[in-house]
Amino acid sequence: MLQTPSIQRSWICIGLLLWAIGLIAQPVSNHGNKFEQITDLLPDPNNYRNIDGAPGPQYWQQRCDYDIECTLDVNNLRLNGSEKITYFNQSPQPLRYLWLQLDENQHAVDNPNQVFDPTNINAAMSENEMQGLEPAKGKEKFGCKIEEVVDANGKALKYSINQTMMRIELPEPLKPGSSFAFGVKWHYYLVDRISLGDIASNSATNLARGGYEYFSEDDNYIFTITQWYPRLCAYSDFAGWQNKQFTGRAEFALTFGNFVVKMTLPTDYVVAATGECLNYSTLLSPAQYMRWQQAQQSKEPIEIVTLEEAKKTEKAKRASELKTWIYKADNVRDFAWGASRKFVWDALANTTEEGKKVMCMSYYAKEAYPIYRKYSTKAIQHTINTYSKYTIPFPYPTAISVEAANGMEYPMICFNPGRAEPDGTYSESTKIDAVSTIIHEVGHNYFPMIINSDERQWSWFDEGFNSFVQFVAEREMDNDYKPWFGPAHQIVDYMKLPKDQLEPIMTNSDNIVDFFANAYRKPATALNILRETVMGRELFDYAFKEYCRRWAFKHPTPADFFRTMEDASGVDLDWFWRGWFFTTDAVDISLDSIKYYRVDLDSNPEKKEFVAKNKVEKPFYDINKVRNKEAGKVPLIERDTTLKDFYTTYQPWTTADSIAETKVSLYDQTYSKDEKTKRFGDKHYYELQFSNKGGLVMPIILEWTFADGSTQIDRLPAEIWRKNENQFKKVFVKDKMVKAVRLDPFRETADIDESNNNWPVKQVPTRFQVFKAHKIEEGPNPMQKAKAKKVRP
Ligand SMILES: [Zn+2]
Repeated sequence: MLQTPSIQRSWICIGLLLWAIGLIAQPVSNHGNKFEQITDLLPDPNNYRNIDGAPGPQYWQQRCDYDIECTLDVNNLRLNGSEKITYFNQSPQPLRYLWLQLDENQHAVDNPNQVFDPTNINAAMSENEMQGLEPAKGKEKFGCKIEEVVDANGKALKYSINQTMMRIELPEPLKPGSSFAFGVKWHYYLVDRISLGDIASNSATNLARGGYEYFSEDDNYIFTITQWYPRLCAYSDFAGWQNKQFTGRAEFALTFGNFVVKMTLPTDYVVAATGECLNYSTLLSPAQYMRWQQAQQSKEPIEIVTLEEAKKTEKAKRASELKTWIYKADNVRDFAWGASRKFVWDALANTTEEGKKVMCMSYYAKEAYPIYRKYSTKAIQHTINTYSKYTIPFPYPTAISVEAANGMEYPMICFNPGRAEPDGTYSESTKIDAVSTIIHEVGHNYFPMIINSDERQWSWFDEGFNSFVQFVAEREMDNDYKPWFGPAHQIVDYMKLPKDQLEPIMTNSDNIVDFFANAYRKPATALNILRETVMGRELFDYAFKEYCRRWAFKHPTPADFFRTMEDASGVDLDWFWRGWFFTTDAVDISLDSIKYYRVDLDSNPEKKEFVAKNKVEKPFYDINKVRNKEAGKVPLIERDTTLKDFYTTYQPWTTADSIAETKVSLYDQTYSKDEKTKRFGDKHYYELQFSNKGGLVMPIILEWTFADGSTQIDRLPAEIWRKNENQFKKVFVKDKMVKAVRLDPFRETADIDESNNNWPVKQVPTRFQVFKAHKIEEGPNPMQKAKAKKVRP
């Protein structure tokens, strides 16, 4: 009795197995899942995150306020700090402990990130690379030293440090809706950010984000004080505590809150910081304070600390007296600052469209003066005004750019490069690098500072977005501006790499091989293609704005973005997200063949007769015929052919009058011959076959060139691939005879192989020819553009 059912079950199982094998053995279907909804790839919606991509009815996020006092010991290059943190548990979950980030421990010698990247030796190495083989040597003093962690009554709290993370045990669980105040005291030694670099940061300049830069000529420093105070990890409905270690690459996941920060330094230092300064009147000289008042109404940058004053200060004997700069910043996720005796400081008052005043300000040493005095503050102003248009109005009272030799972003303040030569001249590329970086880093105020994404998980989610809007902002400033990101063909070299060197955009930041290509260029390009080629500006811009509005001052996830873009535009984009963000597929659409038909106006076949006659498909175009015609011979065989054949046996010819015309007979006739002639007599029918070689389904853009030299563009949506993701045919009806067809004529899809995009086949330009052609329009090196301009008519 007991055995029987189990025997039956095993037969059923074998049956299922055979059935499954049968399924697997089937030839791969042309109908894959490229157009299926991406519910298999996204987390399920819930009460916190709605199915439409908006925050859900029970959306929550934590809050954390900081009261920080610190002293910068410029003689010992050491920062001493103490803070009072008030943490508000707005989650539905009681918390038994809190996680804090000790980012400076990325430089601690016992942190495994010092040795976790593979290394190798080359025949020639830089001194830095050689030293990098012993990363811990000479760095024993670095890392964040916690002096005490106490509750509001000064009673010690238990804590434990795991690399860059510190867990503080709470005396009792912190209930939903309640808050907990505690204090932390710490210090650390600043790193030389020019020589040290950030492990695995993979940035273009590879300078450490925070620390000091020493100027030996005048014995001065520029300090950039970043990731400097023990700060709360983000705790969210989608990641819980984001306590993935900081390695130097994947950036930050942070909580919004209000800050009051007091920074004590020698009196000869100028400080730039997140937020608004509360005590300028006691810090600035009367003349400087007056200029600050003037700047409140000024449309042009006014020097509050002038070049002359800065030059005088940097040469003077170092002050030993101290003074304290007090800053306040509300609703920010972080706080950073910079300080130097070398700083010039200029400011203008920008009025947003809503009538809100934003002080745009720049701080820079004399080395950067020629570039920054002219461009920095103006670039800030342009950035916040353009971003305001495409996202949400700029909500903060200040936007600051500090020259510090590399690019890095924080709320209201960012650090950028851009120094002139000693004689005050500078190259076009240095200028463009400065302006592009300023636009980029100021743009980060939106992504991720306001639209507060989890950078520890997804770099593309802020870098890609920001790089995309940066591109739009640059083009609004100057239509000929040489962009870093955006144009589709700039991503081709990356997308055509072997698959084992690629990973999907949806990859954790720390695991990416080519960080810049994957986290910046590819997503920025994808968004540009989405806007220009797939959705159109109107639908895209509305939906993108809606995403920004929904998630400003909140914590979005990629799913919220994917869903919002569809929800607000009415465009099904699952195929786009799936292909561009979750795979390493590339665009390579091939125009395989073209057939040409005219209607046979004299034929009047019975349907039966017609079907029988057409069982054997007639050849449309005979390559041998053409070749032999040219050679003065009679064709030997008739056969169909494809563009590939043309290409492999390439010979120059004019195909327009060579293409064979096939007559189409019409049956079931209701038209008279006259009517038929009127309706079909002038029409030219072209049946094109396309195949998908690269994997990504994309819209088809075709440029027709007619025998009379005129041109026309046709566009087919990506949905043309829905029923067969590998190939399809499409008939185009034209009033004129066609001489040539080109696929993707504006190079807007990032097609990685353009040799199969043309009929008649064109010789593919060499890389050199492409480079030569591009550098004039938007070459990778701005210097080339300057040179090229001279030879242009
Ligand atoms: Zn960035």
